Amino acid sequence: MCPTSSSDADVARRSELAARLAEVTARIEKACAMAGRDLSEVTLIAVTKTYPAEDVRLLRELGVHDFGENRDQEGKVKAAQSVELDIAWHFIGQLQTRKASSVARYADYVHSVDRARLVSHLGTAASAAGREITCLVQVSIDGDPERGGVPAGGVTAVAEAIEAEPSLVLGGVMAVAPMGMNPAAAFAALRDIAGTVRAIRAAAGIISAGMSSDLEDAVAAGATHLRIGTALLGDRKPPVR
Ligand SMILES: *Cc1c(COP(=O)(O)O)cnc(C)c1O
Repeated sequence: MCPTSSSDADVARRSELAARLAEVTARIEKACAMAGRDLSEVTLIAVTKTYPAEDVRLLRELGVHDFGENRDQEGKVKAAQSVELDIAWHFIGQLQTRKASSVARYADYVHSVDRARLVSHLGTAASAAGREITCLVQVSIDGDPERGGVPAGGVTAVAEAIEAEPSLVLGGVMAVAPMGMNPAAAFAALRDIAGTVRAIRAAAGIISAGMSSDLEDAVAAGATHLRIGTALLGDRKPPVR
């Protein structure tokens, strides 16, 4: 049989993703070398929002194991379409309480936990689903709640709430560098806050920081998880809401 045009497209997308992955990996390697860190300390999360499950499959074949989504509506569908793949799903977007039970059915990690009420909904939902979810406290570095996150002063209370839920594991912290703030300064602040969370649970060592534009600053400041979208998958169209 002749190859179909869709498989030609598949081959082209696969080589594009392979090239982008090689570039991102080289950036991470260089950043680790500059920071005197081991590459194995850093997990790459491919943020596939707005891109199809087909890209998840291709990236998985290229060796990526961790995937991130920021909207439940999209994440739940993509997770279901990828259910046969051995991957870890990270929910990274602002999460409404009423979406907690849906997210709890497929997310292995929730990076955007920023209030006690959300913790209790996620805990109940994870228990009902018979699942264990690793939760990160999302920190608002500049105190502006616009992009989600709890200001530094509220981190301990949220972390303790997670720690108290039997089906939730306190994993660490997450932040997005605020607009207009030097990312290096933002990530340095996050690293300090990470210490207060490790005081509650010593193994809560995840620092989720760094996106396509600022991954070097994040690695330099001790990030363990990088959330990379455009550098890996290409520019996104504006999301349909
Ligand atoms: C979209 C998104 C990312 C990835 O951003 P890029 O700039 O495309 O790498 C990371 N974190 C969060 C919370 C996001 O919503």
